[in-house]
Amino acid sequence: MSHINLSEHGITVEDVQRNLPPAKLYAEAIRDDSDCALADSGALIAYSGAKTGRSPKDKRVVKNPASENDVWWGSVNVPIDDATFQINLERAKDYLNTRKKLYCVDAFAGWDPKNRVKVRVICSRPYHALFMHTMLIRPTPEELAEFGKPDGIIYNAGEFPANQRTSGMTSKTSIDLSLESREMVILGTEYAGEMKKGVFTFLNYFAPKRNILSMHCSATADPKTDQSSLMFGLSGTGKTTLSADPKRLLIGDDEHCWSDTGIFNIEGGCYAKAVDLTPESEPDIFRALRFGAVLENVVYAEDTHRVDFTDTSITQNTRGAYPIEFIRNAKLPCVAGHPSDIIFLTCDAFGVLPPVSKLSSPQAMYHFISGYTAKIAGTEIGVTEPQATFSPCFGGPFLVWHPMKYAGLLAEKMQRHLSNVWLVNTGWSGGGYGVGKRMKLSLTRAIIDAIHSGQLAKARTVPDPVFAFGVVTECAGVPRDVLTPRDTWTDKAAYVATAKKLAKLFIDNFKQYESGASAEVRAASPSP
Ligand code: ATP
Ligand code: MN
Repeated sequence: MSHINLSEHGITVEDVQRNLPPAKLYAEAIRDDSDCALADSGALIAYSGAKTGRSPKDKRVVKNPASENDVWWGSVNVPIDDATFQINLERAKDYLNTRKKLYCVDAFAGWDPKNRVKVRVICSRPYHALFMHTMLIRPTPEELAEFGKPDGIIYNAGEFPANQRTSGMTSKTSIDLSLESREMVILGTEYAGEMKKGVFTFLNYFAPKRNILSMHCSATADPKTDQSSLMFGLSGTGKTTLSADPKRLLIGDDEHCWSDTGIFNIEGGCYAKAVDLTPESEPDIFRALRFGAVLENVVYAEDTHRVDFTDTSITQNTRGAYPIEFIRNAKLPCVAGHPSDIIFLTCDAFGVLPPVSKLSSPQAMYHFISGYTAKIAGTEIGVTEPQATFSPCFGGPFLVWHPMKYAGLLAEKMQRHLSNVWLVNTGWSGGGYGVGKRMKLSLTRAIIDAIHSGQLAKARTVPDPVFAFGVVTECAGVPRDVLTPRDTWTDKAAYVATAKKLAKLFIDNFKQYESGASAEVRAASPSP
């Protein structure tokens, strides 16, 4: 009944199980995959092997005359020729054909029926099938019966390495995309997030062709007005955490599209960071990690199978994937109206950006193109220097077109729908890394609440002397002095020096976009 013949894709394995329900995938995973276990919460624990995060340096895109002029070639989109792609595709199929049993997941990407895409995933690990069952939009039995030909196919042969001697390969890992044949090949990495971001990358190519903006952001909706609010941000800035908000309806935690009719989620599930998760600080996410969820690379107690979320001995990047309806206030279908508010999240480890500022349209463009956040360089004792990361559109690794293509779409939509734009620092306060502390989650939540209630749109702002945006100086639930970073630093001279240093990093990074930016946007640059 659930068997499918994949010979049209060159897959000759007879036992291919299509769209198995979670209970069956659990049974297979625990029986056949020594790297899977059942957590006491009911979630399926799985290990992804050597790779516990994405491998952006190993991504390749086929250079094809049909799309060649559309693609932003460079370190994000590294070209390979079609012959090389075919070699890797064949290698993946050859590997999959050595397996006794395979899994196929047919599901949708995009909650807007007019713009949804049919995705087929072919893989050998039941955990990968469960992950994509969770992260894609699950078809009804009727939709599955009439699924037909998929729009895109992922061949996940991640257990098997790429051949380093194949031209253009620099390691045993290769993630290859062909925009023309709409196929993706995975070799040499079992990190499940690679598949979800592959789907996103395809949408980042096809959506803008239809004047739809694809975005690396979370989204919630106002339960009364259905107006949405978007939170853009790089990894670890708080998209998933802050979108689990009991006062709002959850639309999605990571990937959305903005069309002429409003916004829609691309995915059917969420993929939350699980490090240090507690039921107190993130109750909705904690509760969602139950039967049906996948817990990736977490450590558990041998005797109780209780997960220790503080244990990062496998990786800092432990993750939990759960269907979106596991969050109580998720809105199904995951669509909402045009955004009243657009929030850029940044985790500023320098501690100089204010907790919340209001951006003018040109400032919004400037910060969208810059895509700033800062990481801690290392975990060695004594390392106190944060490292700035600039990733255009807050999602550089997933862009296919030049960043200006997305920025242009955002500018046009934002101005037409009069969305307010905010820059929210979820990073350091009271000094940089080593001196200050990360902003309390409760304070950031108070800021987000005040944005959504409309309070901050009316609040007084003061122009920042270096960054020029409007610093919000009053917000319910947030102590006044916290709102102006300078006031929280004991060493005022150090604050000024650090702010100027960060401004300089912004300016240096923006140079590469200057020729494509309008005079207004260029003028939104900070001035040290
Ligand atoms: P990714 O794109 O990798 O999914 P993300 O933007 O969704 O990243 P989250 O999963 O929300 O990031 O991670 C934010 C992490 O930072 C969580 O572990 C959260 O508990 C922690 N955190 C600490 N302080 C704050 C704060 N003030 N605001 C938001 N998150 C915070
Ligand atoms: Mn997230």
